[in-house]
Amino acid sequence: MEKKELLYEGKAKKVYTTEDPDVLIVSYKDDATAFNGLKKGTIVGKGAVNNRMTNFIFKKLEAKGVPTHLVEELNDRETVVKKVEIIPLEVIIRNYSAGSFAKKMGMEEGIKFACPTLEFSYKNDDLGDPFINSYYALALELATQDEIDKITEYAFKVNEVLKEYFDRLNIDLIDFKIEFGRYHNQVILADEISPDTCRLWDKDTHEKLDKDRFRRDLGGVEDAYEEVFRRLGIR
Ligand code: ADP
Ligand code: UDP
Repeated sequence: MEKKELLYEGKAKKVYTTEDPDVLIVSYKDDATAFNGLKKGTIVGKGAVNNRMTNFIFKKLEAKGVPTHLVEELNDRETVVKKVEIIPLEVIIRNYSAGSFAKKMGMEEGIKFACPTLEFSYKNDDLGDPFINSYYALALELATQDEIDKITEYAFKVNEVLKEYFDRLNIDLIDFKIEFGRYHNQVILADEISPDTCRLWDKDTHEKLDKDRFRRDLGGVEDAYEEVFRRLGIR
């Protein structure tokens, strides 16, 4: 499978067309951004970690009944994926307080919830991805009720699978963001699951093993990505 034209260059990935109109090639970059692109930098090796980690996790999720866009990993940074129409919702699941939730609710970070939460942001960089609920999504025709129901079912399933998996690696899954797409009338998981899109804390030390190290200038950014890679056993 060969790359044809650059279809889209995002903050973390480039997306190329191929000779097959049904599939794309995603190429993961080392570029890092935060605060809606205001903070920019490079995390050496991040592209390879995020590509391989996403594919590793997507395979596990497929085995547990969550359909994904994964077709085939080409190399360290590039993967063939099913071309979907992205549903413009950032789907966020939280198991512990952190980030924007902790700020909004005036809470310390790291408080475990009685049960996981699910929230939506409208995926729109110009608006800074505002928080919305399912009624907004329906009113603005971002998704149908059936799609929202599927997304909700899959998102909680992803949480259960990941929580259990990271637990075995001595990592607490604090929160994460996922995206879904439409593929031949089916809703499937798309985009990525990586330290860019999850908060991952070491269970014992509560050390952050994710993009917060970059967002908050905590240092050891590359080491944190490598550590997750190592614990997953894909290094
Ligand atoms: P951003 O757009 O936020 O800067 P990226 O740099 O990660 O993000 O760019 C990748 C883009 O490709 C995202 O907009 C994402 O929604 C989109 N995307 C991810 N998976 C697929 C897919 N299977 N088909 C089509 N688009 C996808
Ligand atoms: N997240 C993401 N992309 C975004 C916004 C959030 O991947 O554009 C992830 C983030 O890494 C975290 C979770 O979603 O794991 C919840 O993020 P939060 O709403 O707390 O926002 P933040 O504090 O990152 O602004």
